[in-house]
Formats: sequence, C-alpha cells, structure tokens
Amino acid sequence: MLRDMWPALACVSMVAALLIHLGWRRRHRQAMTQLAEAQRMRQVLEERHRGETEREKARRQTIFDSMLEGVAIVDVSLRIEMANLAFRRFMNVTSDLEGRTLASGVESLDIARFAKQLQSVGMVVGMEIVLGDPPVRILQANGSRLSGDQGYLVVLHDMTRLKEMERTRRDFVANVSHELRTPLALIKGFVETLLDGAMTDPANCARFLQTISKHTDRLIYLIEDLLTLSRLESGRIALNRQPFELRDLVQEVFDDLKSVTAERTVRLENGLDPALQVFADRGRLQQVISNLVENAIKYGRAGGAVSVGAKALPLGGVEVWVEDDGMGIPVESRTRVFERFYRVDRARSREAGGTGLGLSIVKHIVQAHGGEVWVNSELEKGSTFRFTLPADNDTQ
Ligand code: ADP
Repeated sequence: MLRDMWPALACVSMVAALLIHLGWRRRHRQAMTQLAEAQRMRQVLEERHRGETEREKARRQTIFDSMLEGVAIVDVSLRIEMANLAFRRFMNVTSDLEGRTLASGVESLDIARFAKQLQSVGMVVGMEIVLGDPPVRILQANGSRLSGDQGYLVVLHDMTRLKEMERTRRDFVANVSHELRTPLALIKGFVETLLDGAMTDPANCARFLQTISKHTDRLIYLIEDLLTLSRLESGRIALNRQPFELRDLVQEVFDDLKSVTAERTVRLENGLDPALQVFADRGRLQQVISNLVENAIKYGRAGGAVSVGAKALPLGGVEVWVEDDGMGIPVESRTRVFERFYRVDRARSREAGGTGLGLSIVKHIVQAHGGEVWVNSELEKGSTFRFTLPADNDTQ
C-alpha cells in the first residue's frame, strides 16, 4: 500500500519543493529590491547631508565675513584654518590665509609676540598690535584656546580711529593748556613787577598795565573761540538760515575792522554785486567773513589791499573769496591751516593776537551750511580763501 503511494508522495514533495523554491526566489527578489531602494535612499540622504554641510559652511563664512572684528581659527601649531574678510583686510592680504601660520601671514614683531604668548599661555587679552608703515593700523588682539585642544580662536578689533581720536584729544588739551599758560605767565610776571615797585614809576606802570590788558584780551578771545568751536563741533548751534544781500554784510565787517585796517594801512575793497543774495545764518556768516578778512589784514602786506568778491555758481549757490597780497602760505600748510591751533608762523600769529582757532571755526561754520572752504596761495604774492554756500533748495 505504501509502495503504491510512493509516486504520489514523490510528486507532492516535488511540488512542495518547487513551491518553496519559488517562494524563496520571490522573497529573494523582494529583498534585493528593498536593498537597492535602501541604498538609493542612503545615497539621497548622503547627498542632502553633503549639500546641507556645504550650505551651512557657506552660511557660517558669510556670517564671519560680515563681522567687523577680524576672526580666525588656528590649529594647535598656529596654522590658520579659517580667517574672515576683516582678518584678511587687517593683515592686508587678499589671497587665502588658510594653511599659513599666524606669524608668517604678515611680517610683524607684534604678531610674532602674540603668537608666542598664545601658544605658551593659551590666552592673550587686549594685546596692542601695530601693523604697516604710516598710515598704521592699530589692532587690539585677543586669543583663547578652544576646548578639546582643537586650536585657538583669534579676534582682532580695529582701534585705529579710537586711538587717533584719543591722540587728537590729548593734543588739544596740551595745546589749550599751553595757550592759556603763556598769557597767564606774562600777566603774573607784570603784576609781580608792579607790586615789586614798578608802580611808583607812572610811565612803566601804564606800559605794564597795557601789556596786562593785551594778554587778558588774548585769554578772553581764546576762551570765546574755544566755546564757539566746542558748540559747533557738538552740533549744538542751530543755524537760522535766511536770504540776505552779502554786500551789506561785508561792509559791516569792514567797518568793525577799521582800527586793525588803519594800523596796517590796508585798503579794503568790497567787490560784491549789491543784488547778490545768499541763503545763510547771517551772524555765523559774519563770523566767517570777519575771520578771513582779519587774517588777510594780519598776514597780508602792510600798505597792501584786501578784497572780497563773490559769484553765483552755475548749478546754484555762491562762491565767496577773500584775497590778499601778502606772504602766502606754503603748499604743505594749505590744508593744515584749517586744523585747530595750526599756525604757519607761531610767533607772528601770537604777535597779531591770534588764537590759532579762527580758520577751524570758519571750516565748521561753512561745513554746517553744506559748503566747502579751501585756499589758493602763492608765496610772496598772496592768498585767496574761497568758500561755497549751497542754494536755498540744496539745503532742504
Ligand atoms: P590765527 O589766530 O593764528 O590767525 P587761524 O586759524 O585764523 O589762526 O589761522 C591759522 C594760520 O593760518 C595762521 O596762524 C597763519 O599762519 C595762517 N594764515 C591764515 N590766514 C592767512 C593769510 N591770509 N595769509 C597767510 N597765512 C595765513
């Protein structure tokens, strides 16, 4: 009986084996498809990740590059791994700094000192670094070790402007002290001489008192000029602009300066067209023209001439000039005369009662009106100070 069933059993087992084989083939195909799909997914994810890393890197660089501070990351041997735009600008290099050591990036003893301290101590705070020939750049450098011994972070702040402002302020204080001390010392000296007995001699007494009075005036002018300048510089003076005829104003200045003019026998010429109008703060403009005319008389030729002229500009506004036939101004001083306390001839300025602030005040007032001031000059021939005033509608 069992023997009779063999063929059937064999047949069933073959069919079963076939079915198992077919099932396995299907599962195998399925598994292969799933594997391929997984690989494709992995590839997509990897590409996306790479893209994101690149984008993230570019974003980080953009953020670094928009910082005002110079930032660099250096490895433990101080080789630059990343430097932002400001850092490269401070180092005065346009090419990539990556791969170069901190000290070889730029030739500077200060940088070498910074690098040495960073490596030995692991931290540098507020070290001053001076780079370049004049004009120099003054940097404040900070550096600290990154956690996990991954190198160092270097941050540079540009202090050039701040240092320049500090120097200007120091110079200004020194100049003011000097300007105050000189007349004060003279006044004290003459007062002491009078007290020591010179008072009994009427001739000497009058002479000494006149000198004291002259130096007291000098102190008063200096303090007035300092106050004006301080108000102009802090923008505390509001301009009251209005249209008026310039010729009348120039005539008023000439009248005010009659005594100085007579002293130096200078001829004053008002060459202005009576119809020419300007749009400005009358009081401040009077100060400008008065300073320029007084200088032209003081530094002009004794017995010479000083003339004031003006013309309307083709694009609106006016140009005004004050011309003398005096000693002129050397080329190297022509822009510097507008600086506070700058004098070409210190002794002559003092003798003439100058404070060294007149042209600085002129510049501030003209600029506050939106104009410009400059000087043309020829040695031993004379100088012409010129300034512009914008038209009414240009100042809105
Ligand atoms: P100061 O009180 O000394 O006159 P300013 O600021 O008015 O001060 O002028 C600065 C310097 O510019 C003067 O000391 C003088 O050396 C020079 N300067 C000004 N105006 C003239 C001029 N018209 N001719 C020659 N030098 C001038």
